[in-house]
Amino acid sequence: MARYTGSVCRLCRRENMKLFLKGDRCYTDKCAIERRNYAPGQHGQGRTKVSDYGTQLREKQRVKRTYGLLEKQFRSYFQKADRMKGVTGENLLVLLERRLDSIVYRLGFATSRNEARQLVRHGHFTVNGRKVNVPSFQVRPGDEVVLREKSRNIARVNEALDGVMRRGVPSWVELDRENFKGVVKTLPVREEMTTPVFNERLIVELYSK
Ligand code: SF4
Repeated sequence: MARYTGSVCRLCRRENMKLFLKGDRCYTDKCAIERRNYAPGQHGQGRTKVSDYGTQLREKQRVKRTYGLLEKQFRSYFQKADRMKGVTGENLLVLLERRLDSIVYRLGFATSRNEARQLVRHGHFTVNGRKVNVPSFQVRPGDEVVLREKSRNIARVNEALDGVMRRGVPSWVELDRENFKGVVKTLPVREEMTTPVFNERLIVELYSK
């Protein structure tokens, strides 16, 4: 699967907000947004007038980049969300949060979604007792995500779990640190999906043109 391999801090600077793509560094003053809070490139500090389309596009890019997706995959999530009952924008965010790599990140096994994705790809987790190595796997309420026995001494994972309180575990998942286990209690509601803050209605407007 194709993926973005350039500088991730550049993406935050382009979106003018912290997307938390680089783990612990995002919480320090080494964060590029703290140091150079302007768009990258030669004209990054120039004045720009943003059109309605530009505003919608930037919002879509923010969400897409936060979850580490490329356009085709992101659009297929949107189409799925559009076919579901309820508010399309919220459905979209819930579908993204339900990805296994996102759940692994939310539970604190990794400091970023990129790291979580790699852990999942390498087969370090089981869902309800079965090994799953597909980062886009959709987790359901009640599912148990467990770090496999042979993976429990990976230093990066233990460091991430030690720092989990600083990053915070959302209320809709529960982490059992001792047993390297997490449970998805319910699906998240809109108010609980606040890091970073998105205006998903702009994405719906963009794709509805
Ligand atoms: Fe880089 Fe993280 Fe700061 Fe974004 S939030 S600029 S990824 S350090």
